[in-house]
Parts: sequence; C-alpha cells; structure tokens
Amino acid sequence: MSKKQRPVALVTGAGQGIGRGIAVRLATDGYDVVINDVVADPANTETGAYEVKRAIEAVGGWAEVFRADVASADGRKAMVGFAADTFGRIDLLVNNAGIAPKERKDILEATEESFERVMSINLQGPYFLTQLVANRMIAWLAEGKVVKPRIVFISSISAYTSSTFRGEYCISKAGVSMAAKLYADRLGEYGIGVLEISPGIIATPMTSTVKEKYDKLIAGGLLITKRLGQPEDVAAVVSAFAQGYLDYSTGQRIEVGGGFGLRRL
Ligand code: NAP
Repeated sequence: MSKKQRPVALVTGAGQGIGRGIAVRLATDGYDVVINDVVADPANTETGAYEVKRAIEAVGGWAEVFRADVASADGRKAMVGFAADTFGRIDLLVNNAGIAPKERKDILEATEESFERVMSINLQGPYFLTQLVANRMIAWLAEGKVVKPRIVFISSISAYTSSTFRGEYCISKAGVSMAAKLYADRLGEYGIGVLEISPGIIATPMTSTVKEKYDKLIAGGLLITKRLGQPEDVAAVVSAFAQGYLDYSTGQRIEVGGGFGLRRL
C-alpha cells in the first residue's frame, strides 16, 4: 500500500502512556499517525512525541508530530489543518489527551481554577476537536476520500466512580462519556462510528505516583484480573474498533479495567 492509501489516525496526547500505546498499535495495524502532544521537542527522540515517531517508523509506519494544546481552539484548528494538509484525511480520531488535577483536593476545598483547567483539557478539548474532525469526515466521505471514519473517546472508570479528592476529574470524564453518546447519535446518519473506552487503572506516568496504593488495592481483591492494566490493553480495543469489529456497537462504552466495574458479592 502506498503511503497516501493508508488510513490515518489522529491520536491526542500520544507522547506517552495510553496514547503512545494506541499510536504504536495503530501503526502496526497499518495506520499512518498524527502524534499530538502539548510538549514535543524534536531534539529529544528518547522520550515523548519524537520517541513515539521513532517507534512507529521502526515498524514501517509514517508518523508526524503536531504540538498543540487540545484546550486551545487555535491549537485544535491548526492540528486538524495539519492532518488534512499532510495526510489528506483522518479515518480515526482518538480523543486520548487528558490530565489529573495538579493537586488531589477534597471537593470541600477544591478550587475553581483546577476545575476550569481540568474541564478545558479533558472535556471541552475533545468535545470541540471532535466537532472539527467530524465536519471534515463528513466532507471527506462525500468526496470519497474516506470510507468508514471512526471516533474514540477515552473516558475513565471515574466517569461513574466517585473519588471525592478529584471531583473535577470525575465530572470531566462523565462529560466525555456523554460526548461519546451525543456524537454517536449525531454522526450515525453518516456511518461514522463512535466508541467510548473507559480505562481502569493503567500503568502510565499519570498513575506512577499512586501505583503503590493501587497495587495494594489490587492485591486486596479490587479487580478480577489481578494486575494493573497496560496501555496495550487499551490499544487492543482501539485496534478492534479501528478494524471494524465493533461497528454494530456505536455509542457504547467498553471498560478496560480488569473487571473493576462488575458488582460482586
Ligand atoms: P499520561 O501518562 O499523563 O499521558 C497523557 C498525555 O497527554 C501526555 O503525553 C500529556 O503530555 C498529554 N497532554 C496533557 N495535556 C494535554 C493537552 N492539553 N493537549 C495535548 N496533550 C496533552 O496519561 P495516561 O495515563 O496515558 O492517560 C491518557 C488518557 O487516559 C487520559 O485521558 C486519562 O484521563 C485517561 N485515563 C487514564 C487512566 C490511567 O489509569 N492511566 C485511567 C482512566 C483514564 P505532557 O505529559 O507533555 O503534559
């Protein structure tokens, strides 16, 4: 397949963690990838976005880095423009970029500043990035440039699990969950599939500071599958969706959490 015939994925926050796992898996599956991250230093190919570019090239893929903040309207516009100009299409959008609050604060003390920061990156960013990309996808479908575009929202078990020391994160992810449903509904007439993936506790830089706590909880029986999740566990579901195996499940949520969400007695 020539470069221009390969499907194209745009993965936000792909410089490390779950986004990295998704980007590399999609490249292995035959996608070209736009690696978005908020920090990206071309001089550093050992960590971050340019390391991911190198990893994709090592499996024979084509990847380009685009540095942008998903919370910025100008950044989102530039990112989609870059993907369109460079690759000519986006077949798969993966809304992955997200942050935890800088400080875990009880909801009786948490600040509006933190609320606004978390909501703008975790919810407003993917909500409006999807609006931009969806409109492009509709136009590309009409022009025959894409055949079966798809969109993924990475939410979290926090969308339906109370953690009172990071309420703003939980609310942002509950919003992401509804965004997935809304776009699945609205884009159904165009055949654009939308999937929500809710990771459980995944071993990434985001969870590295609280790993000990989670290791203890898992050893104590929190999960059915007694281990932390890996980015590859999430990437496997994105891959199945990208390959069309979940096309009759638009608008649904798949938890990748080792059985976290199952009520047990
Ligand atoms: P991570 O290790 O912190 O990686 C997140 C990536 O997103 C980083 O590369 C980060 O860049 C980037 N990013 C942050 N803010 C951004 C912005 N404004 N614009 C563009 N990129 C931005 O986190 P992760 O654990 O892989 O999490 C990925 C997604 O999964 C998040 O949405 C998270 O909420 C969700 N999730 C994670 C877990 C888990 O257990 N790890 C569980 C459930 C859901 P910098 O590092 O350069 O800031």
